[in-house]
Amino acid sequence: MFNLKKLFGLTDEGYRNFKRGVFAVVLSNLTLFITFAVIIQTIMAILNPLITGSAFDRVLIWKLFGVGLLGAVLHIIAGRNEYRKTYSTAYGEAEKIRLAVAEHIRRLPLSFFNRKDLSELTTNMMDDCTSVEHVMSHVAPGMFAGAITSVLVTLILCFFDWRMALALFAALPLSFGIIFITRKIQERHGRRSVEAKLEVSNQVQEYLEGIKVVKAFGLSGERWDALKDAMKTLTRRAIVFEGVAGVFISLASIILQSGMGLVIFAGVNLLWNGALDPIRFLVFVLISAKIYGPFLVLLTLLPEFFFYLLSTERMRKLREEKLLSGDENVSLPNCTIELKNISFAYNEQDVIKNLSLDIPQNGVTALVGPSGSGKSTISRLIARFWDVREGEILIGGKNISGIDPETLLTYMSFVFQDVTLFNDTVMNNIRIGKKDADNGEVYAAAKMARCDEFIRALPDGYNTLIGENGSTLSGGERQRISIARALLKNAPVVLLDEATASLDPENETQIQEAISALVKNRTVIVIAHRLRTILDADKIAVLDRGRLVEEGTGEELLAKNGLFARLYRIQQESLGWSVGG
Ligand code: ADP
Repeated sequence: MFNLKKLFGLTDEGYRNFKRGVFAVVLSNLTLFITFAVIIQTIMAILNPLITGSAFDRVLIWKLFGVGLLGAVLHIIAGRNEYRKTYSTAYGEAEKIRLAVAEHIRRLPLSFFNRKDLSELTTNMMDDCTSVEHVMSHVAPGMFAGAITSVLVTLILCFFDWRMALALFAALPLSFGIIFITRKIQERHGRRSVEAKLEVSNQVQEYLEGIKVVKAFGLSGERWDALKDAMKTLTRRAIVFEGVAGVFISLASIILQSGMGLVIFAGVNLLWNGALDPIRFLVFVLISAKIYGPFLVLLTLLPEFFFYLLSTERMRKLREEKLLSGDENVSLPNCTIELKNISFAYNEQDVIKNLSLDIPQNGVTALVGPSGSGKSTISRLIARFWDVREGEILIGGKNISGIDPETLLTYMSFVFQDVTLFNDTVMNNIRIGKKDADNGEVYAAAKMARCDEFIRALPDGYNTLIGENGSTLSGGERQRISIARALLKNAPVVLLDEATASLDPENETQIQEAISALVKNRTVIVIAHRLRTILDADKIAVLDRGRLVEEGTGEELLAKNGLFARLYRIQQESLGWSVGG
């Protein structure tokens, strides 16, 4: 009925353990019935002599006492077994699921993150895993074991006296029918309550993230109201949901237990007609007081189970998101890059339109164009952060859609303006380029990237801790650190995003020198913002609204007097104004 393995994304081992868990709970339930059966037998052993006038069987009573004791011991052992099998394996499994989901997220294409907020994703991941943990430890084993035990007990009772068993369970279909029929209503309220919960976690996160702005602009009232509203909604929806589910569960259990009345009614009738002996009648009355236990467990756990199916839906969808795949063992003969008739859209509208461009090996190719023309997008497509919608990108003659993204990235270094720096030493921040680099290699790369001097001037030199995301360094310094990383990585392809912010001449010269060191003998794609700096690039590709409109050397393009020449002139003029001629 439920493919649990798929629903909760269990591992093979986790699924096996789960089945063991259910078996352990069934065992534990059955041991409980041993003691119960002993009690009934004892009552019969005491009543029988009174009714039939036969001798009182002391030995039987002692035997029953022994079996009862054994039953109790077995129940304790089974209980411990149940605990180990359900709880500890559930938590172990949840840990594995967490890691598997994290790994899955790491391998998802960036296009996925374009649709989702990363922080929301991680919070939800933790929440969903907690749900799986709860279902695996508290809900599913009890529920499945409840079902199995119920069937077993029903069969045994039918064997004992089918007419009385029928009376006992006559209300069963109606009672479970209520839970199943109202599932949609419960789900609707469940979903609303889950949504409200998400909204609260979003609001809390937003509130915490924005606390600086909130304080600076005295917005505390508004932001706080939004959070308070979300919480109120959650409370209301949660109460409604619990209420609705509670009503149905209570109704179902009342109906189920009305079977007890039926047992007495049917029993008295049968007794009257002499079709049932009084002892059996008594036994059934006693049993009916106890028998509904596993059924009631089932009745209360079913809606809870349905609810958790809802809240783990998101995780299931996430795990079904397609990963970018490809060959991990490719070796590229060279690093010429060809874009062939590529089109690409982040959402519906194409931002790159049928674009073809050859990027020669060991040369500098500059992508220029107005803001939003698609320069960064092209560099992301080359790195396969996204896959093209149409056309193909070849590197060394191989289509990158057939190359494993991580393998492809070993061929590439990135120098971006929004460099991510970690809250670690400068040394380790550069070493990210090549994890096993020794200190000497790091120093050499830093020297080539013109970082050495400013790093040595820091309080602890290379061992200085840089604040979160490099807040203690200037923009130019950060970019040079990122160049040092790229130099250390020594990949044949470099994707470089030139800084947009104007740097002081000193910084600018140093960055230019660092870049000159980096581009030597490499295939370089530079997203250029200041056209003066790339005039002598081997090739300039001019983009406009996702199309390639011009290509050639700087000289050729200036002579052509097209878009490039126009952009160039505008920049020169504004420069002229800002530095006074
Ligand atoms: P450029 O680098 O030339 O400034 P981009 O490649 O960044 O241009 O952007 C090209 C177009 O794609 C723009 O219209 C931009 O709004 C859009 N765009 C860029 N990144 C995203 C994204 N992550 N999601 C949706 N649209 C995007």
